[in-house]
Amino acid sequence: MSVVSKIAQLVWFNSPTVGAYQNQLLSELAALLARDLPLGARVAAMLFMAESLENHDIGLFRTLNELWGEDLEALTSQVWFEDGIDDDEAIVATILPSQVVRSPENFRRLLNANFIEKGSTVLPLAGEVSFAIVRLSAIENEDVMPHLIAAAGKVEEFMGLPQPINEVIVLIGSPGGERELSGVNLGGTFIVVRPEDYEYCVEEKTVFAHELVHFYPANRGRSTPTWFREGGADQVAFLVHLEMYNLVFSYTGDPCPAVSLQQLLDDEAAVGYLQHQSGPLFACNYVIGQTLLGAVADAMGAAAFKTAWRELQMAAAAGLGVTDPVIRDTFRRHTPSSKITLFDSAYAIWHKGEFN
Ligand SMILES: [Zn+2]
Repeated sequence: MSVVSKIAQLVWFNSPTVGAYQNQLLSELAALLARDLPLGARVAAMLFMAESLENHDIGLFRTLNELWGEDLEALTSQVWFEDGIDDDEAIVATILPSQVVRSPENFRRLLNANFIEKGSTVLPLAGEVSFAIVRLSAIENEDVMPHLIAAAGKVEEFMGLPQPINEVIVLIGSPGGERELSGVNLGGTFIVVRPEDYEYCVEEKTVFAHELVHFYPANRGRSTPTWFREGGADQVAFLVHLEMYNLVFSYTGDPCPAVSLQQLLDDEAAVGYLQHQSGPLFACNYVIGQTLLGAVADAMGAAAFKTAWRELQMAAAAGLGVTDPVIRDTFRRHTPSSKITLFDSAYAIWHKGEFN
């Protein structure tokens, strides 16, 4: 049977609800067939393709297109690959390319043994959303999945926008990279969280909410200033934990003495993002960014802060430039006139930029 007729027989192929995925899948499949016809044909006939079409199914094809040489061989020679991929295995395969350079150890361990926990919920704005936690160790923290699902609901509510992705995959492993972060959002659908943070009491760990914030337009990629993306992710995560557990988080003890946001912006502009990211000032984006936003929220009031925050998300979603001056203008415009002095002094203390 030809590959084309195999595809045409799949149940989901004629279902209108999978239209968007179908196009992505067919283009990934076409790329794979062009590169390696027998492999493409073999995968198209596997079980995971037969029933429903999900984001991670496309992820598997993307993985096969992105891995090369011994990394590809390492995957396709696994017994679990050879005997046909199921949905859990497709989720694991989806993560693999992101780990090749970042964490070769995660890559090898993912191929061998892993544990998957799945969950799902209906978010008021995004609708049905699924979650998968992929672990490399047998140690399980049963509180994480409910926390993740509840936090996703709180984050979506705060944003006023539907959660932009409908499948969240959390890998519990070393985040890798140059700096040892608690977590990292690798774009697409992945979040990586350190085992130490996963195994700890979730009420104390804002990292899950923080990484969920990074799916939203103004906190994603490089669309906004670094201090806003990271400090904003902390600000929302802290508010989520306050609401969910009545726990107050803040950066106390000033671990970034005398560092202003303007200094961080200047440093990044001078040395470039990558060097700034591996330099000593980078962590201050979180600390001073959240401290300013916390002070701004206190000055303008929680409701006005949320309104301005949503306006910024909306602007980023529309592709408008959410620059450093736009961020200040937006918050300032929503600040009651009796609070403007307070607002300006917060900016003068923590930002120190020239705005007029
Ligand atoms: Zn972050």
